[in-house]
Amino acid sequence: MTNSEIVTSLLASGDRQADLHRKAAELRDREFGKTVFVRGVVEVSNYCRENCSYCGMRRDNRSLSRFRLDFEPLLELLLNHRPASITDLNFQAGEDPIVVRELVIPLLRELRAHTNLGLSVCLGTLSERDYAALREAGASFYIIKLETGDPAHYRTMASPGNLDERLAAIRHLAVAGWDVSSGLIVGLPGQTPEMMAATIAMLRDLPLVGNSVSPFIPGNETLWPDHPAAPLDLAINAVATMRLLNPDRIIPAVSAMTLVGHRGYGRALAAGANLTTINLTPPGPRQNYLLYTRERNIMTEERIIREIADAGCVPSQVGLSTALSQRRACPAAA
Ligand code: SAH
Repeated sequence: MTNSEIVTSLLASGDRQADLHRKAAELRDREFGKTVFVRGVVEVSNYCRENCSYCGMRRDNRSLSRFRLDFEPLLELLLNHRPASITDLNFQAGEDPIVVRELVIPLLRELRAHTNLGLSVCLGTLSERDYAALREAGASFYIIKLETGDPAHYRTMASPGNLDERLAAIRHLAVAGWDVSSGLIVGLPGQTPEMMAATIAMLRDLPLVGNSVSPFIPGNETLWPDHPAAPLDLAINAVATMRLLNPDRIIPAVSAMTLVGHRGYGRALAAGANLTTINLTPPGPRQNYLLYTRERNIMTEERIIREIADAGCVPSQVGLSTALSQRRACPAAA
């Protein structure tokens, strides 16, 4: 697909849109069957050294009370009280190297020793030493989004570091043996359809196993409180377009989709998404994990299972990394 064909796909409506979503779902079914992965996410810290203009955790937000989760209760929750359908866990935070060393690495070691869960992290741009320590502790899947792939727009948005550094991190992680997922926010202030298409084309060409798209949501404690949220159709069309471009990638339905329109989650699954997330952050700290608004529409296990069934799919019995290595070992049978 050329960039202008990607633009057309992002803006599709009516019959063309229905067609796009159907094709994307068929490709997901061809590649993965009707299975959808279920991953638990824990937001372990809202400390952040970055200053992304659209994010409530930005370092200049002085009114936010900052937290890091405690090791023991979190380990107990994850070992003994996690929802049964979860095959994978993801640890996410603001860009906070301290929580990486003091909490995430020791936690990964325990989980690796006592469970066969797939272990993902989304912890920002860190040093090569930190990446290596995370991998050695048992994580194998790194989520690091481009957010926007246009260098000037990346600067205006004050996204982490700079675009070249973010791209270099993705390439480094892939070479170092990580399964890497990246993605974009659609509907950011000043972002044209052409910029989104160019970012999606960039993601297509990177060494990734996963792609994601989040609709922009304006947050009160950000620089863009009055900018409109992204239309749900744009976000869902982006999911479907990514599925067409890279049929074999893991693409999540993100809970933010339920905030920008009706049936966002189900529509993402019907447009080729194949990963869902159950939020396991304890409710107190979760209030302060402020990406956009404090109303986050938390997805519970019950709700996720219902959404998967409504989409005519079933939860995967195996974790992401296991499924990916099976596909690599035997692509035809997968
Ligand atoms: N610090 C980590 C990730 C934590 S933030 C990193 O840099 O990778 C998790 C994600 O929230 C970001 O990657 C971004 O895509 C998303 N996000 C932040 N603010 C948002 C907003 N206003 N609307 C939509 N998504 C947002």
